[in-house]
Amino acid sequence: MKPDAVRRLERHASLGLTETHDLRTGNVPWREADWKLPASDAFPSEQVDVAILGCGIVGAIIADRLSGAGRRIAMFDRRPPGCGSTAASTAQIMWAMDVPMSHLSQTIGETEAARRWRRVHEAVRRLGERVDELGIENGRHECPTLYLAGDVLNESGLSEEARMHRRHGLPSDLLEAQAVARRFGIAPRAAIVSQGGFDIDPVRTCLAMLGRARAAGASLTWPVDVVALHPAQDGILIEAADGRRCHARDVILATGYERATFFLPPAFRLHSTFAIATLPGTAPLWREGAMLWEAADPYMYMRTDRLGRIIAGGEDIDHAEGHGRNALIGAKAGKIAAKLQALLGSGPITIERQWAATFGSSPDGLPAIGQAAAMPHVWLAAAFGGNGIAFASLAADILEHELGGREDPDRNCFCPYRFG
Ligand SMILES: Cc1cc2nc3c(=O)[nH]c(=O)nc-3n(C[C@H](O)[C@H](O)[C@H](O)COP(=O)(O)OP(=O)(O)OC[C@H]3O[C@@H](n4cnc5c(N)ncnc54)[C@H](O)[C@@H]3O)c2cc1C
Repeated sequence: MKPDAVRRLERHASLGLTETHDLRTGNVPWREADWKLPASDAFPSEQVDVAILGCGIVGAIIADRLSGAGRRIAMFDRRPPGCGSTAASTAQIMWAMDVPMSHLSQTIGETEAARRWRRVHEAVRRLGERVDELGIENGRHECPTLYLAGDVLNESGLSEEARMHRRHGLPSDLLEAQAVARRFGIAPRAAIVSQGGFDIDPVRTCLAMLGRARAAGASLTWPVDVVALHPAQDGILIEAADGRRCHARDVILATGYERATFFLPPAFRLHSTFAIATLPGTAPLWREGAMLWEAADPYMYMRTDRLGRIIAGGEDIDHAEGHGRNALIGAKAGKIAAKLQALLGSGPITIERQWAATFGSSPDGLPAIGQAAAMPHVWLAAAFGGNGIAFASLAADILEHELGGREDPDRNCFCPYRFG
C-alpha cells in the first residue's frame, strides 16, 4: 500500500471505519419474540481465513456460503445479528431491478445490461435453493411478481421491457390492464408478470444462515465495533473499539448502509424509506400472493405474509435519518395506506405497524461487490438498491470465486469503482 494511502487511512480510522446510523425506527413486522439470537462466541484468538464485518442478511449469506466451502470464518457485528437494516426489510426477493433493463441498455448496451440481469436472476435461483436447504418452516413463498405501469415505464415501455427480458431467457410477460384486473383482482393497470421470485422473513432467514455457518465452524462475536483495519503481513489486522485484534487473511465489509466511506465511493448514496404492515388476516386482497411494485419513481411495493398481513413500502425521501425523518412516519404511513387502497380498489386499510428506515441506492441500481481500492485483502459487499437480498446472494457467488483465486467473469459489472 502506498504511504499517502496509509496516511489517509489512518486519518480516516480516527473517525471510525464505518458510519453509524439510525437504521430503523418504529415497529417492523418481524416479531422479536421469534428472533432466537445466537450467544456471542469468544473473540477469535487465532488467525482466520476470512473475517466478515456485519451480520445482517448480506454477511449471513456470505458466511453461510464461504464456511460451507471449508474456510475458517470469523463474523463480527456491533449490533445483535440481523437487527440492523435486515430487520426493516420487506424481503421481496426479486430479480427484476430498480433500473429497468431497457433503461440500463441505453447507457451500457443491451448485451451488457442483460448480462447483469441474468446474473442476478441466477443469484435469486441459487438463494432459493439455499433457503430451502435450511428447512425453516414456511421458509419462503414462491409467487409471481407484478410490475405495474407508472411514470418510469408506461404500457408500451413495459411491453418493450418484457420483450427484452424474454430475448435473454428471463421469464416475463406483459398483461394489459383488464387482464391484470381479472387475474389478480386489483384495479386495472398494465403490468409485467414475472416468475422466479419469492418472499421470506428476513430476520429468521438471516439467523438460520448464521446458524448454519456456525455449525460449519464459523465464529460470531457481538457486540464488536470494528474501528480500524491495518494492513499486515499476508492479510489484515482488525481492530475493535475495545482494543481487541484479530488477524484475517481477507476481510469482507458487509456493513450495509453504515458505509465504510474510505472504500465505498460517494455514488452509493443514502435515503430514507417508509413501510407499513396491516393487521393479520387483511390479505389476500389480491390473488396468487403476488409481489407487486410500480414502474414509478419513487415506487411503492407490497407483499403478503403467512399471517395474512399486507406489508407495503415506498414514499422515499432524499436523506437518511435526522431532518425530522422519524416525525414523518405517521404521515408517510397514511400515504402508503391510501395509495394501497387506490391500487387495490379496496376499502380502508388498517395499519398495525409502521416504520422508517435508512436505504441505499446506486446510479445503475446495482450493488458494490469486489475488491476494495487502496488495501489488498479487503472486499466490499454493499447490497445497495431495492434488490439488496438478491444482491447478497450475488455477492456470495462473486466472493466465493474471487477468494478461491478464480476471477469472477462478471467482476467488472458490479465493481464498486465502476462510476469512475
Ligand atoms: C424498508 C426496506 C425495505 C426493503 N425491501 C427489500 C426487498 O423487498 N427486497 C430486497 O431484496 N431488499 C430490500 N431491502 C434492502 C435489504 O433489506 C438490504 O439491502 C439488506 O437488509 C442489507 O443487509 P445488510 O446485511 O447489508 O445490512 P444490515 O442488516 O444493516 O447489516 C449490516 C450490519 O453491519 C454492522 N456494522 C456496521 N458497521 C460495523 C462495524 N464497524 N463493526 C461491526 N459491525 C458493523 C451493523 O451493526 C449491521 O448489523 C429493503 C430495505 C429496507 C430498509
